[in-house]
Amino acid sequence: MDAFRLLTRSTKFKPASAAAESRLPSTGKAANPQLFRTAEADELVSKNGKKRKRGTTAQQDEEDVPDLDFFSSNKRPATSVTETAVAIEDDAEKASSQDVSDAAESMDEVQRRTILNSHKIKVTDMRDLDDIQQSESTKDSKDSKKKKKKSKKEEAPVLSKKEQKRARRLFPEPLLDFKELRSKYKISSRLAENVADQGFTVPTEVQLGTLPLLLGESSEPDLLVVAPTGSGKTLSFLIPVINKIVRHHHSHPDEHGILSVVVAPTKELASQIVNEGRKLVVGTGVKITLMKKGMRVGDDGNANVLDEKSDESSASEDEDADNKPKKERANIPLTKSDILVTTPLMLVNALSANRTSTMATLPLVRSLVMDEADVLLDPLFREQTLDIWKSCSHPDLRVGLWSATMGSNIEDMTKSTIKERQEDLGQKPSESHALLRLVVGLKDSAIPNIEHKLVYAATEQGKLLGLRQLLRPSAASASDIRLRPPFLIFTQTIPRAVALHSELKYDIPAEAGGSSRIAVLHSDLSDIQRSEIMRDFRKGEIWILVTTDLLARGVDFRGINGVVNYDIPNSAAVYVHRVGRTGRAGREGGIAVTYYTKEDIPYVKSIANIIDVSEKLRGKEGDKSIQKWLLDALPNLSKNSKKDMKRHGVKARQAPRLTDKEEDGKGARGMRISTKSGFERRLENKKKGAIAASRSRKAAAAADGNVSDAGSWAGLD
Ligand code: ADP
Ligand code: MG
Repeated sequence: MDAFRLLTRSTKFKPASAAAESRLPSTGKAANPQLFRTAEADELVSKNGKKRKRGTTAQQDEEDVPDLDFFSSNKRPATSVTETAVAIEDDAEKASSQDVSDAAESMDEVQRRTILNSHKIKVTDMRDLDDIQQSESTKDSKDSKKKKKKSKKEEAPVLSKKEQKRARRLFPEPLLDFKELRSKYKISSRLAENVADQGFTVPTEVQLGTLPLLLGESSEPDLLVVAPTGSGKTLSFLIPVINKIVRHHHSHPDEHGILSVVVAPTKELASQIVNEGRKLVVGTGVKITLMKKGMRVGDDGNANVLDEKSDESSASEDEDADNKPKKERANIPLTKSDILVTTPLMLVNALSANRTSTMATLPLVRSLVMDEADVLLDPLFREQTLDIWKSCSHPDLRVGLWSATMGSNIEDMTKSTIKERQEDLGQKPSESHALLRLVVGLKDSAIPNIEHKLVYAATEQGKLLGLRQLLRPSAASASDIRLRPPFLIFTQTIPRAVALHSELKYDIPAEAGGSSRIAVLHSDLSDIQRSEIMRDFRKGEIWILVTTDLLARGVDFRGINGVVNYDIPNSAAVYVHRVGRTGRAGREGGIAVTYYTKEDIPYVKSIANIIDVSEKLRGKEGDKSIQKWLLDALPNLSKNSKKDMKRHGVKARQAPRLTDKEEDGKGARGMRISTKSGFERRLENKKKGAIAASRSRKAAAAADGNVSDAGSWAGLD
């Protein structure tokens, strides 16, 4: 039975051709998970050695992208394609004098540059130039005097912003093949096997760029990573974290306790990271655990009191442990896990349980990973995240901040937090490690491999009509959008998600599974309900999931065909993340539909801009969905209104306060999702259901019971 057929209730349904099928994300793997690459980079990789030719398409591509000067040389700005090529070769000659990487490399700088550039990878040292030079000078004593003199005499006072930028660019060695993890970076053989077992062949851009930085021989840096949604960031931070722990177990056999903390904004994401981690740690002796309420994790003076007999699962089942008197809590064994994956609040609560002022510390933690770092350092989570950061008291702590979007305020906060920590620890900048930033593609942009539709629906009513047409496009309908399940629908608030869910529940015909095919997921549900819904959606039992921004970030449903923004997102960043639930790992065919009403017009421009840039990246100049007139006509939003929108969303759509009677006020009614009463709809649905059921009984009888299931969607995994 075909899900789409049932949803569309089309009688003349023809199975889509094989070619069309393969374009849908839910129908399998992408040929190549990389989003940006050029033919000559491939050639270079396969030959692994030849210099690139002048005047290539990679460079021409870059010219569309004014913000990122991928080809800026360290010496001077490159203005034309040929000049760029000359600059690259120029640089190669001078490369020996540059302090890019002094490890013995098999690739020269031209090659490294070419590969990094063609994959749109840009690495920058984020420290102040003085600090970089000081740190370099202690590293390399021979060169140091010259450099220091130079920096004092000429460079330091006169460097323009642009020159500083260029001086900070780095071209580290890229990872060309997962096999190099073992052969070149000497990671644990078991870990390498586990990576290989996942069946990935080509590293994605973010893996290509970050793994050598984190696994290489030079001192591990703190790292800020901005890479597109679905580009494999999880693997990029988990492999180095796990490998570091394997090494640690060898070098410190007696040190037990939490060595790494991974923080993620939602339970759904945290649990997904644990699942990914579990596949990688098999047989390595490394343990990864999801933080649960009641677990005892911090050093509250009893760090060494490890109860060897009990294991952490017994503690994690104890839901009330946080509220227990101190004496009893002390009996809960400290969690014995190397990697703890947690939401911010969960860990902060555990670290501050039974404490009045200071929090317990996590003295052994050497790696702190912040996944979706920009949201973790946003006002909502900031205090908790910084508390966790502070509680990681080991002087060798390294932090990794990962996201698809990162405002400059987040970068500044990271820099200042690291600096503060170093001052507290009495570390001089010269002794400290680097803070690097790696950006893949254009910062804060949506992935180029999905199709965007921005649809004006005028009113709330219009949106509902539009969505119904999406669910059941008829021949007569003007809608050119076809969205096949599975897909996600985002609303602004929990009540709206709930209301939309109950409105759509009866739109799924009984023979397609009826209302059980559609579900709603939000943070007011219990943990058990939440994980059951996630499981059923992954299994393919739920086809349409109505949700809030709870699922906007990080969660990886591999084959999602589309995303519907029933309510516009609160910011451009949220748009990038919501639509990034489709088109993962380079898959083509995902669709993102965004409805907007009259009330939304002031907020649409930033979204339209994102779509415009994404279509340019895709090279879709001809039939762009965002016309120039629209971009010109849409109003710009003031900084304050943007802030306000980010915090509260579209005002008219905010959840009504409990005292507001629903029927009160025209505005509230205007923004309501349903028009009919629930009773009416149930009645209608019963009738429809009865008719449909009798029809399908007849059909089944006619087919002699041979109902084919071949075309139906069998789940996401
Ligand atoms: P991000 O965190 O960047 O949004 P994820 O780490 O969730 O992305 O990865 C997205 C999907 O890509 C996952 O399903 C993951 O298994 C898959 N993936 C990761 N690396 C590769 C690779 N090198 N080749 C193919 N698929 C990959
Ligand atoms: Mg992620």
